[in-house]
Amino acid sequence: MTQPQRALVIGAGFGGLALAIRLQSGGYQTTLLEKRDKPGGRAYVYEDQGFTFDAGPTVITDPSALEELFRLADKHMADYVKLLPVTPFYRLCWEDAPAFDYVNDQAALERQIAERNPRDVEGYRQFLSYSQAVFEEGYRKLGAVPFLAFRDMLAAGPQLAKLQAWRSVYSMVSKFIEDPHLRQVFSFHSLLVGGNPFATSSIYTLIHALEREWGVWFPRGGTGALVQGMVQLFKDLGGTLELNAEVANIETAGNQVSGVTLMDGRHFPTDALASNADVMHTYNRLLSGHSRGTRQARSLGRKRFSMSLFVIYFGLDRPPQGLEHHTVCFGPRYKELIDEIFNADTLAEDFSLYLHSPCVTDPSMAPEGCSAHYVLAPVPHLGKANIDWETQGPIYRDRILDYLERHYIPGLREHLVTCRHFTPLDFREELNAHLGSAFSLEPILTQSAWFRPHNRDAKIDNLYLVGAGTHPGAGVPGVIGSAKATASLMLERLDDR
Ligand SMILES: Cc1cc2nc3c(=O)[nH]c(=O)nc-3n(C[C@H](O)[C@H](O)[C@H](O)COP(=O)(O)OP(=O)(O)OC[C@H]3O[C@@H](n4cnc5c(N)ncnc54)[C@H](O)[C@@H]3O)c2cc1C
Repeated sequence: MTQPQRALVIGAGFGGLALAIRLQSGGYQTTLLEKRDKPGGRAYVYEDQGFTFDAGPTVITDPSALEELFRLADKHMADYVKLLPVTPFYRLCWEDAPAFDYVNDQAALERQIAERNPRDVEGYRQFLSYSQAVFEEGYRKLGAVPFLAFRDMLAAGPQLAKLQAWRSVYSMVSKFIEDPHLRQVFSFHSLLVGGNPFATSSIYTLIHALEREWGVWFPRGGTGALVQGMVQLFKDLGGTLELNAEVANIETAGNQVSGVTLMDGRHFPTDALASNADVMHTYNRLLSGHSRGTRQARSLGRKRFSMSLFVIYFGLDRPPQGLEHHTVCFGPRYKELIDEIFNADTLAEDFSLYLHSPCVTDPSMAPEGCSAHYVLAPVPHLGKANIDWETQGPIYRDRILDYLERHYIPGLREHLVTCRHFTPLDFREELNAHLGSAFSLEPILTQSAWFRPHNRDAKIDNLYLVGAGTHPGAGVPGVIGSAKATASLMLERLDDR
């Protein structure tokens, strides 16, 4: 009898977990090796004094891609985790203008648009149909298909040209919409996947259509409950998850991976290996013993990486007041601030923030009568701004909390029960993220699809990538799509045996 083929996946982020589920259900005996004490990666969970803080993703979109993973095992996602609808999707706020509730209701959207600029109602309709066309092409058709050969890129070329993919998100939105605040409403989305709206390809306007198509969701118990549901599914399928298992080295024999060695000395042999760890970390550190590692690391070193984030997790001894689940707090500057976040070597004086208040949807995220929150500010990565976060972190935290207290949460300090923060340095140290980037390679056109590190390595035959650093890119739907693309390549090999 032939032995089952063994697969290893390094990293239990959403991408690694989704891939492990697909491999295990497709016939590989799969082991998932995670550095930290909990799975989830960027979707780690902190528990402080009865408060539950999701560390990263909170806007869950495209539930159909998640459901698909459970269906592979003839299971229902609802038996593992329940998704709750969130409305409005976001409340968008400015210091100098009334708030905009971004909802999934055409009439309510048009009413709010007309209040700002009646001409933009027709412009918005045209923008929506553009965004839907990009969504069909870029997400439904190509979002989970690996781009291994340049001819794949050439095949997609005519459609990309027709959709004017060379234009930026902001430039495309501005083609349809005049009002400056509305331009922000419909262009900020690319920031959620690490893209500068002024530089990222207009393909990323598809996020708007994706949200309109399937809505915005929040798992009961938090994003961590979704991670736990996926872990349970993987285990129910017979897979093995090793926590506190940091890979030190990928071992090769010629151009084949033979196994990995952990920091604690344990050795795991394998027939196929996929890395969900940061791409630069994978090639530069884990594959440093192979010429392919050195060469790829040199090439990655010339690429542009997304900005980092500064995140504060805090608990209050009272319920959320006057807040929606997701609030985007735009500061006085938009383009100039974004430019500084992506290109400057210092921290800007002002900020634009995203405020998460999950107790609006699910009060169980905090002790009774209390509320859990997080607030994040995009900041330059460590390769741009060499900030001493050990000393600057607490100062920056206080500036942000003061701002929130002034504009959004009166009495914040008085009701503060617990508070912790996560800096670009933590992205680097805890997650092995190159330059402390929060989203890996910046999603510009010349770093997308075939131009992004491929789902299968071109030289080392049984080495694969999954997650934000490979096609299609960051964001939960992106990395779940990357798992589908990578699994298709790995399972094809299994079928060929
Ligand atoms: C604060 C924040 C908010 C976000 N909000 C949203 C949102 O609302 N919606 C959305 O769709 N997206 C959001 N994103 C983006 C999204 O979270 C990420 O793109 C996605 O989760 C990345 O998943 P991944 O599979 O690439 O793996 P990651 O989450 O990056 O996980 C990689 C894993 O590899 C492990 N690892 C690294 N090195 C090793 C090693 N040597 N050995 C073993 N393990 C190792 C790490 O510990 C980690 O667990 C957010 C991101 C952040 C940071």
